[in-house]
Amino acid sequence: MSDFNLLINGKMVPGDLTMPVLNPATEEVLAQCPRASKNQLDEAVAAAKAAFPAWAATPITERRKLVTRMAEAIEANTNELARLLTSEQGKPLADATGEVMGMAGFFRYLSSLDLPMRVIEDSGDRRVEAHRRPLGVIGAIIPWNYPLLILSFKLPSALLAGNTVIVKPAPTTPLSTLKFAELIKDILPKGVLNVITDANDLGDAMTKHPDIRKISFTGSTATGQKVMASAAATLKRITLELGGNDASIVLDDVDPKKVAPGIFEGAFQNSGQVCLAIKRLYVHESVYDEICNELVAIAKSTVVDDGSKQGTKLGPLQNKMQYEKVKGFLDDARKNGNVIAGGSAMDRPGYFIEPTIVRDIKEGSRLVDEEQFGPVLPVIKYSDNDDVIRRANATTYGLGASVWSSDTARAHKVASQIEAGTVWINKHLDMAPHIPFGGAKQSGIGTEFAEEGLAEFTQLQIINEARA
Ligand code: NAD
Repeated sequence: MSDFNLLINGKMVPGDLTMPVLNPATEEVLAQCPRASKNQLDEAVAAAKAAFPAWAATPITERRKLVTRMAEAIEANTNELARLLTSEQGKPLADATGEVMGMAGFFRYLSSLDLPMRVIEDSGDRRVEAHRRPLGVIGAIIPWNYPLLILSFKLPSALLAGNTVIVKPAPTTPLSTLKFAELIKDILPKGVLNVITDANDLGDAMTKHPDIRKISFTGSTATGQKVMASAAATLKRITLELGGNDASIVLDDVDPKKVAPGIFEGAFQNSGQVCLAIKRLYVHESVYDEICNELVAIAKSTVVDDGSKQGTKLGPLQNKMQYEKVKGFLDDARKNGNVIAGGSAMDRPGYFIEPTIVRDIKEGSRLVDEEQFGPVLPVIKYSDNDDVIRRANATTYGLGASVWSSDTARAHKVASQIEAGTVWINKHLDMAPHIPFGGAKQSGIGTEFAEEGLAEFTQLQIINEARA
C-alpha cells in the first residue's frame, strides 16, 4: 500500500519511527505506517502554536470557506477514503462509505455555524459584550471504531472557532486519517492542522503538554480518567466522550416483528463497536420469547465476512485486543445465560465473532454489567416498569438509552427517568451534527457538535465598558 506520512507544519513528513498496521479481516500487514516520536509531537505543537495568532485573527467567514473546502475534498475522495477505512477498520464498504459521507456532512454543517457577539447590557451605566474567543492549540484524540466520523465531531468546530489542532488517531486505525491529512494539507495555512500517530505512547504527552490548551478526547472511560488526571496539572479544558453500557427497554405493548430489526441494528452495527450501541436489552416478560426468537432469526441470516466483499453486513472486530476481550464475554455468556444464536469466534483468519444473542441472563454477569463493545447482546427479562428503570440506571455509565413502545406518551414517561445523555424512542443510534451529544455520569464530560459543542472550543470573554 502506498506511502503514508505525518502532517507537521504544512508538510507531509515521514515518522521518526514506523509501525505495522494490520487488516483485521486477514491479520496481514496492510502498510508500514509512520509513527511520531516525542520530538515530532513537540514540533507539531510548536507549529500549531506559531500558526495560532494569524488563524485566530482570520475572519470567521474566511475560516468557514476553508473548512467547507475540506468537506469538498472529502466528498471528492469518498471512495478512496472508504476503501482505506474498510481495510484498516474492518467495517463493510457500504458502512465505510456512509462514514465518509457522514464526515463530509459534519464538516459542512458545523462550518455553517456562527459565534456571534452577544450584548448582555447596553445602558446608561455600562455596555457589556460577550465574545467567544478561540482557546489556542487543541489536541484531538480519536478511537478506532469510527476514525473519520469521530474526527469530524471535533475538527471542523475547533478550526471554525479559530483554534489550531493536533490530531492523533488510534494506533490501529491511523491510515485513513493520514490520507485525509494529505488530501486537505494545501487548504489550510501551514501549522493550523497537524496529524501525528503513535503506538499508544503519545496521548499522555499530549494531555500534559503545556502548550496544548484543550483536549477533546473520545475513547474508553479508563483512558478518559487518565486524561482528566493528567490534564489537571495545566488546568486544560477537556471534553470527554467515553464508554457506555446503553440499556434499551422494550415495553409490553410492542409488535416484536416490527421492532426487532431496529433493535438488532442498534446493537450490532459496526459489529457492536459503537459507544452508543444497545449493550443491555431489557424486554418485558409478555413479549420476551417473541423478541428473542426474532433477534435469533436476524442474527442467523446476517452475513459476517471481510468488509471488502459485497453483501457483508458485519465485519471483524477491529483489533486483537478487542477480539480477545469479546471472547471473554462469550465465556461469561455461556456460564451465566443461554446462548441462542452465535456464541463463537469464527474458525478463519481475522478477528471474526458470530453475532451472538444471549437469553436468561441477569445483572451480576460481566456481559450485563460491563461494556462488551462487540457483537454479543444480553437479553434480560423484566416484569415491572419501575424495577426496569432502576436496573437500567444501576450503572456508572450514562451515554445513551432507548425505549420501545407503541404508546409514545408511555415511552416519554420512561425516557424522562433514564440517566443518559441521549434517550431514543422507537429507534437507537440516530445522530446528526445539529443535535448536541454528550454523556451523563462516567460516560463523559461536556458536549460535542451542534452550537453547544462549538462553544466548548472557545473561551467566553466579557468586555465591560463604563458608560457613566
Ligand atoms: P482507548 O481509550 O483505548 O483509546 C482512545 C484513544 O486514546 C486512542 O487514540 C489511544 O491511543 C489514546 N490513548 C491511549 N492512552 C492514552 C493516554 N494515557 N492519554 C491520552 N490518550 C491515550 O479507547 P478505544 O479502545 O480506542 O475505543 C473504545 C472505547 O471508546 C469504548 O469504551 C467506547 O465506548 C469508547 N467510545 C466512546 C465514544 C463516545 O463518543 N462516547 C465514541 C467511540 C468510542
